Amino acid sequence: MAGHQHYHESMLSVEEALERILDLCIPLNAERRTILETLGHVLAEDVISSIDVPQLDNSAMDGYAVQANSLVGASKSSPVLLDVIGNVAAGQLPDAVVRPRTAVRIMTGAPLPKGADAVIPFEDTDEGYPRHSSVGVNRIAIFTQVDPTSHVRAAGRDIKRGEQVLERGTLLRSPHVGVLASLGINAVKVVRSPKVAILSTGDELVEPGEEMKPGHIYNSNSSGLASAVVRSGGEPKILGIASDNVQTLSAKIEEGLTTDLLITSAGVSRGDYDIVKDVLAKMGKIEFWSVRMRPAKPLAFGILTGPDGRGVPHLGLPGNPVSALVAFEQLGRPAILKMMGKTDLKRPVIDAVLKDPIYNADGRRVYARAVVTKRNGVYYAKLTGHQDSNLLTSMAKANGLAICPEEDSVKKIGEVVKVQMIDWPEVVF
Ligand code: AMP
Ligand code: MG
Repeated sequence: MAGHQHYHESMLSVEEALERILDLCIPLNAERRTILETLGHVLAEDVISSIDVPQLDNSAMDGYAVQANSLVGASKSSPVLLDVIGNVAAGQLPDAVVRPRTAVRIMTGAPLPKGADAVIPFEDTDEGYPRHSSVGVNRIAIFTQVDPTSHVRAAGRDIKRGEQVLERGTLLRSPHVGVLASLGINAVKVVRSPKVAILSTGDELVEPGEEMKPGHIYNSNSSGLASAVVRSGGEPKILGIASDNVQTLSAKIEEGLTTDLLITSAGVSRGDYDIVKDVLAKMGKIEFWSVRMRPAKPLAFGILTGPDGRGVPHLGLPGNPVSALVAFEQLGRPAILKMMGKTDLKRPVIDAVLKDPIYNADGRRVYARAVVTKRNGVYYAKLTGHQDSNLLTSMAKANGLAICPEEDSVKKIGEVVKVQMIDWPEVVF
């Protein structure tokens, strides 16, 4: 067939496959986003503060602003009485100036009055002790002596004006978004999310919600993969189903070439009709791989040429739903993370004691769906039942993929294996 000379099939380890994919998936350009839309994104600029945070010295407690000097020797049995000369709440500017033996009533966050160098919390005072002085001024009894700066938040203590607060490359988590807001910043530049086109292929597929015909199956890959893309930080564009004919397939793939990454499912295995392969071969430079993993051995990857001449990476996953999701985990997710400018592309891997054996018949790396639990500080991995790659519920039950390496024909009950945690601990943000 004409297309055949345009591709070849190679045998690769998971690492080799990933390396080739990552080589061709490069970080995307930056875009300016309001801070509420930056969670999970990588900052594309250094952030420098134009203000001190806090802006002014202020009180860390509700209490009295004083001069620490006024309270030398104060104790529960021998309180010091100070004249209360004013009151200041958060958001106000104090007009009173604190002098020796005077105090200003102050609320948390209110600016410290001039002359004051410490705050005494209400707990260490008695407002009802002797209500008034001989000249009719309110007085406050204070039961402790304190050091200057006590319960005072210094201006610029968190952030100094001119300071670099966040560095380009920082992965923005919720506190970072708060820090940006604390600087008065409402939008920043972040690496944008890839738009990821998702195309399912196969004449047997019916969309959920439509009527099932005999011999057909519901298209679960589009929804499962789109959700996995969202969870990885990408923006899915579902292209629907392409039946196994050149016209629909070419049209659908072309629709996908307006995005940053095209993910297809099915049509890449040896036994398949050659339609997918032929169409792909005409639209770019795609290789067909045999990856030493189970599930998901047959894979396609390469660069398709978009209408504007732009290269769009294409990842062709196997059709079986578990294979598609496991291959996405190993190869698609890291590609999306890299495009988003992230550098930590791996799920956490733990050591766990097997509660079921994992068999390996043909020298591939087995990713067995497992439930990981922890007892007395030890992780245990129990398989989620039959490991056939069409059993999607076995994937839904799993929080980890327990690994039997290529070189081992079995990992027995009680043996310690590596488990890639796909759902715990929560690692997204
Ligand atoms: P294939 O890669 O075309 O050989 O497909 C392998 C198996 O996956 C077949 O049983 C297909 O029916 C099934 N399959 C292919 N695409 C999908 C899909 N989008 N959703 C669910 N199952 C699928
Ligand atoms: Mg098929």
